[in-house]
Amino acid sequence: MSEHSKKASVFIENEQRTSWHDESLWFVRKKRDAIAFKTTQWESLRNAASQIKDNVLSNLDIYLLEFETNAKKNGVTVHWAEDAIEHNQIIHQILNNHKAKKIVKSKSMLTEECGLNHYLDEHGIEVIDTDLGERIIQLRNEPPSHIVLPAIHIKKEEVGELFHEKWGTEKGNADPTCLTHSARRELRKNFDEAEVAITGVNFAIAETGGVVVCTNEGNSDLGCHTATVQIHCMGIEKIIPKTEHLGVFTRLLARSATGQPTTIYTSHYHKPRPGTEMHIILLDNGRSQQLGREKFRNSLKCIRCGACLNTCPIYRRSGGHSYHATIPGPIGSILSPNIDLKKYSDLPFASTLCGSCSDVCPVKINIHEQLYHWRQEIYSRGNLPKSKSIPLKITKSILENPKIYNVAGNFARKVLKILPEPIVNTSANIWSIGRDLPKPPEESFKEWYKKNKDE
Ligand code: SF4
Repeated sequence: MSEHSKKASVFIENEQRTSWHDESLWFVRKKRDAIAFKTTQWESLRNAASQIKDNVLSNLDIYLLEFETNAKKNGVTVHWAEDAIEHNQIIHQILNNHKAKKIVKSKSMLTEECGLNHYLDEHGIEVIDTDLGERIIQLRNEPPSHIVLPAIHIKKEEVGELFHEKWGTEKGNADPTCLTHSARRELRKNFDEAEVAITGVNFAIAETGGVVVCTNEGNSDLGCHTATVQIHCMGIEKIIPKTEHLGVFTRLLARSATGQPTTIYTSHYHKPRPGTEMHIILLDNGRSQQLGREKFRNSLKCIRCGACLNTCPIYRRSGGHSYHATIPGPIGSILSPNIDLKKYSDLPFASTLCGSCSDVCPVKINIHEQLYHWRQEIYSRGNLPKSKSIPLKITKSILENPKIYNVAGNFARKVLKILPEPIVNTSANIWSIGRDLPKPPEESFKEWYKKNKDE
């Protein structure tokens, strides 16, 4: 069994959880559909976004240098990090320069990708995640299970228990308003104490050198406005050429993510306030390599809206942690094999290839086709386990030879008819776990057609 299947089977043991996880995400998907249908230019926006990103990916070096030049003109310190280690070391150095022992961080999948919390924790620096969902999973010592809704796998009753245990809130109180107020009270203290604020970046504008961060809680602003040092961490693919392009993406992002017309806060950071510092870290970490992979470079268009996760029948029923990667779901299954093909070779198979992910993607990434391409790469590079590669080879030789196909079909129908059911649906046959093999038909379609074609 693959790693994804093993972890998914743990998740689906709790049938109730599987159902409400599925339903909650489908609810978000339906909200997205409703607002997309109301937006008359929806397809034009998707086309525009995809074309802007095509331009960015073809001229990434030029836009990155333009961005750096303009950011520096604004008084921002720009750092380049080749990988996660370098990214974390740069942050550590900035913190050391300011003798900072505590930081507040707003939501950033990139710092998750780099394992920043763990790294800083090991160096004696306390990181407080300030996005409510992120804070919940941080208190539970878990990674996020969704890129937009990090705690979607947890029920409010569990949050109530957690806050009671950690912050002494009233036992049994799972009222979302009370829980949010207590989180706000706890987080305020940290905003007051932290000297450094870290944020992710949704968009970086080459022509201005500024960065844009979209949140629903305002935690990014509060952090940056109260700290004396602000650090913005971004992947090099987050660049857009001009400010006039921003509206295309902000209109698509919130609608695709949660069905909102816009995120509550769309914060623009251009320069440090007087007496403070502003740093931007540009991280590669395998992105250049992905850019060089013809079939997969489009995945760098992703604006991390999460729509492909919400619609995916596998993600909704297997939970984000089953993907054992920073970015779960369909887009993560394309990005993760780029970082470590062997470790993540199971993920492109965690899909029905139904294409729903590609249909909802606001930047028109051909997600399901790329999943299929990864399967072919994984097979041809010998990264498929024997339990899959041998049956595939046998199937291939049967399917490409009509005579063998007919004989094999006849043989299989006869054998399946004779074999007692417990032998067919044995636990050794993984396919039959949770479902039974259908009864074989009396004859093949070809045989039936021969007899009936004149009728
Ligand atoms: S691949 Fe498309 S749908 Fe999925 S998170 Fe990225 S932008 Fe959204």
